[in-house]
Amino acid sequence: MKDPNCIFCKIANGEIPSNTIYEDDSFRVILDNGPATKGHALVLPKDHYADIFATPEDTAAKAMIVAKKVSEKLKAKLGCEGLNIVQNNGEVAGQTVKHLHIHLIPRYTDDGQHILWNPTSPSAEELASIRDKINN
Ligand code: AMP
Ligand code: ZN
Repeated sequence: MKDPNCIFCKIANGEIPSNTIYEDDSFRVILDNGPATKGHALVLPKDHYADIFATPEDTAAKAMIVAKKVSEKLKAKLGCEGLNIVQNNGEVAGQTVKHLHIHLIPRYTDDGQHILWNPTSPSAEELASIRDKINN
């Protein structure tokens, strides 16, 4: 299913041109137009799913296989020394385009980027309580 109002649906299905670095029947991978680093790419399913919660398991699994294939291509062709895989869900998590996408961010020594969070220090009891809330 496509969403006629979704820019990533239009890009993924070739209605809007993009810098495509991989395509198959179900996915297109494009260069991000506001890249964190050289080669920053986005894995886009051709069908519209707003986020990970709306995505069927088989599509999520295939998306990660595409992410792996293209990560290897980025490493081979651009010579990155590392690579971050980032996937944002919901505004609170930094998602700005409501069509599932996986960021592939090649990393280079001294690239000046930071994909970090501030670690906190929960007690052992707090961690156990969260574990139980999730598991029960
Ligand atoms: P997110 O914040 O996870 O929703 O990421 C959205 C990403 O899409 C950002 O990194 C944008 O730079 C990128 N982006 C938005 N519009 C376009 C576009 N038309 N072509 C390529 N990348 C885009
Ligand atoms: Zn869409």
